[in-house]
Amino acid sequence: MSTGTILKVSGPLVIAEGMRDANMFDVVRVSEHRLIGEIIEMHGDKASIQVYEETAGLGTGEPVESTGAPLSVELGPGLIGSIFDGIQRPLEKIKEKIGNNLTRGIEVPSLDRDKKWHFVPEVKAGDTVKGGMVLGTVKETDVVNHKILLSPVMSGTIKEINEGDFTVEEAIGTIVNEKGVEEKLTLMQKWPVRKGRPYSKKLSPDVPLVTGQRVVDAMFPIAKGGVAAIPGPFGSGKTVTQHQLAKWAQADIVVYIGCGERGNEMTDVLNEFPELIDPNTGKSLMERTVLIANTSDMPVAAREASIYTGITIAEYFRDMGYSVALMADSTSRWAEALREMSGRLEEMPGEEGYPAYLGSRLAQFYERAGRILTLGTEEEGALSVIGAVSPPGGDISEPVSQATLRIVKVFWGLDSALAYKRHFPAINWLTSYSLYADSLGAWFNANVNTEWTALRGKMMSLLSDEAALDEIVKLVGMDALSPADRIKMEAARSIREDFLHQLAFHEVDTYTSLHKQYLMMKLVIAYYEQSLEAIEKGANVNDLAGLPVREAIGRFKYIKEDDTDTQYDVIIKRLADELSEACDKKEEL
Ligand code: ADP
Repeated sequence: MSTGTILKVSGPLVIAEGMRDANMFDVVRVSEHRLIGEIIEMHGDKASIQVYEETAGLGTGEPVESTGAPLSVELGPGLIGSIFDGIQRPLEKIKEKIGNNLTRGIEVPSLDRDKKWHFVPEVKAGDTVKGGMVLGTVKETDVVNHKILLSPVMSGTIKEINEGDFTVEEAIGTIVNEKGVEEKLTLMQKWPVRKGRPYSKKLSPDVPLVTGQRVVDAMFPIAKGGVAAIPGPFGSGKTVTQHQLAKWAQADIVVYIGCGERGNEMTDVLNEFPELIDPNTGKSLMERTVLIANTSDMPVAAREASIYTGITIAEYFRDMGYSVALMADSTSRWAEALREMSGRLEEMPGEEGYPAYLGSRLAQFYERAGRILTLGTEEEGALSVIGAVSPPGGDISEPVSQATLRIVKVFWGLDSALAYKRHFPAINWLTSYSLYADSLGAWFNANVNTEWTALRGKMMSLLSDEAALDEIVKLVGMDALSPADRIKMEAARSIREDFLHQLAFHEVDTYTSLHKQYLMMKLVIAYYEQSLEAIEKGANVNDLAGLPVREAIGRFKYIKEDDTDTQYDVIIKRLADELSEACDKKEEL
């Protein structure tokens, strides 16, 4: 262990000398207060330390002690339902112990040391095991079966393993490693946050993360293990969208990292999240959620660590073969922390003062997403990452948004103008994109309906044609459009209002199965294509625009899943009848 002394303090940055034996990324304890920090630069015997607690009052000459270990998280039962800060201190536990304000240097273990968990082994004495294999399980909550994994860095032969009630530190058994040395097995393991956890193989992103949100699944889908960004101009519905994804996305575990700007933003999250009900179980969503929150009384530097803490926890659950969804809100706040440290380190600033390595740091974070085969058991696990960006003034030409857009494959462009018009979710269909759309197309065609990609393509082109026609209509009015273009406009409106618009708070509309989404697409496109045919047969375009069946198409989204097939047939029949009536009317003239 190496001990030095403080040479200089500049906000969250402390320079210490006499640290020759310390290593990059070692966790250090600074001053008598034992503040937690991390070495982020070494020059000779001088270490630059990012301190995660308030440094006011620290002076030169005070001791700095390296712990010789990198910043790590504790992984084991007790994670689910917890609220941690950026360096995995349990906020609730601290509150119980000392009240609302974080005392500096406080030491509370991340995982409860007293609580006993019932462990049921799945291996037995004599079994050869390697890193990442499942030793057994702990039923952590009603929803989560916590698999106890052998640490990725261990392997050997099980000497002893027991069923029973254990704390996270007690021995559940022992293993004899390859060198013949006996090691203790526990429910908990540690992992350094800045190092991605290993897996056996990365799989290609060709399975969707189904969300039940139509604009996402049908238009801008995200793959399981994929990466998406969502900008959030104020009031555009970012919170509601994130809550919807947390509730409905096909994820066994949700990890939410909140880097709020102001304290109260974070308090909102801390209050709101536990109140969300998991639609699959009827219980609190916290039964499968881990929250990482940077509260306002923590210095900005802690935000920097929080995304690594969060993603390491997420990887751990991925390694159990689960589908994990991680949401980081917002990465802009994280980047600001990076900028502040870089400034204090007097590094050469890049664009708008952000360090030149902003892009590569963001990439390193997003790269940890993916669909994989787990180490040891070769089970499929996935870690999908949704990062929110909050560009100042909503202008995404700024560096953090731009760097993010170069990395992510999906962009859900929340638009305050749409939110103002009460079009929800306010995801702009013209600016959003999904680079997974093609690779996922085959899955949708094979698993929902062979027509899926064709329908999607038709809808997309109708929407972009509408935008072009809109310009003409603004100049010369709707009447100047050809009947075919009029129908195009009507169909596009139907796509927007009847399909894309989805109410989060409506009992039925809040989630739409892929099959129902397919039927809805069919209805809109059937109206469009059959109306075009009717025009060929001489039907009047105003009659077609005003067909009574359109009301039924619009209300289809509120029909319960069980009734959709029958109702679909009824509507298609009505559509045919009304269209032929419209055509006959012309013949009568
Ligand atoms: P932000 O977090 O971007 O400031 P919110 O997510 O709180 O915005 O959304 C603002 C308001 O917009 C919500 O209170 C709600 O009334 C409405 N809203 C947003 N998304 C939806 C949705 N999908 N369905 C219904 N209402 C929505």
